[in-house]
Amino acid sequence: MGFDKLNTPLLGKTAIERSMDALIAGGCDSLVFVTSGESEKTVASLSVPVPFTVVSGGEQRTDSVRNGLKAASGEIAVIHDAARCFVDPAIVKASIESAEKYGSGVVAIPVTDTVVKLEDGAFETLDRNTLFRMQTPQTFRLEKIRAAYEKGDYATDDATLYARMFGAPRLVPGSENNRKLTTEADWAWAIERLCPPAFGIGFDTHRLVEGRELFLGGVQIPFEKGLLGHSDADVLLHAIMDAILGALKLGDIGKLFPDTDPQYAGISSRVLLCKVNELVQKRDMLVSHVDATVICQRPKLAPFREAIERTIAEDLAIPFDAVSVKATTTEGMNDEGRGLCISAQAIVSVRHK
Ligand code: MG
Repeated sequence: MGFDKLNTPLLGKTAIERSMDALIAGGCDSLVFVTSGESEKTVASLSVPVPFTVVSGGEQRTDSVRNGLKAASGEIAVIHDAARCFVDPAIVKASIESAEKYGSGVVAIPVTDTVVKLEDGAFETLDRNTLFRMQTPQTFRLEKIRAAYEKGDYATDDATLYARMFGAPRLVPGSENNRKLTTEADWAWAIERLCPPAFGIGFDTHRLVEGRELFLGGVQIPFEKGLLGHSDADVLLHAIMDAILGALKLGDIGKLFPDTDPQYAGISSRVLLCKVNELVQKRDMLVSHVDATVICQRPKLAPFREAIERTIAEDLAIPFDAVSVKATTTEGMNDEGRGLCISAQAIVSVRHK
């Protein structure tokens, strides 16, 4: 992936640390880290709650595992690819129990797609009921898997070498979440998995007065009055901005754009919304959805609704379908209903890109 995927923090914890935690929670009582180069130092400095050693990796996966097995101790060897850092400790436990009972416990999942073999123009559909995708951990009696490795053969997993010497190993059900972080898409999946969207809520109200133009959601609305405020007083964009800032715990627009600051006098709230969106993007995040309600007796907003949604979507650089704006009256009640003010409420979700 162009960076050290195992030692790069994924929301505070590296893949190696996540794998380590899962293995220990699943029942491993000592660890052998097999790694190379710079990573050896990083791993040696980890705080590991069980006895551990760090050994150098080899040219290929098989060489690395062979080195690891030499340093391993105990009855059972749990061989795990640290890039599968979301393995459930229950799966680790099940593989250990299987190895204790049957000599092996290899994590695998059934193939649900149709798999074909295409070789020299020959097309063969394989019987998927007989096919499995191998994952890790792959767990064995230490002396047996060591013997399988000492033969000097090569394979892309441990079960293959074990099967050559001792026959088919026992399979243990794995999981789609036990995914190997290999590509950029896997990394993005991992971030999404670790970071559910954040939500923010916003509310604002401004007085309706004569002699001002009316802006709602960045759109100028023909009306005999406008909203009073330091900026263009676009109450809808203000509620949306506060919701975004709330989702990121960045305070509110009063703190960011004080109404005592002359640079914001009469400013279009669209400019401010774009500034708020820059803060979102700086965090490598995006606004994923906006829903807002304008509370107003007059004017009727229905004819402007789509233009407002388009303007907001454009300023946030998100799809039109991700923005919803509704309007309601208060049936002549309250200050909104008496035409003294217009209010707006918004809720937004923000997520990692
Ligand atoms: Mg305001």
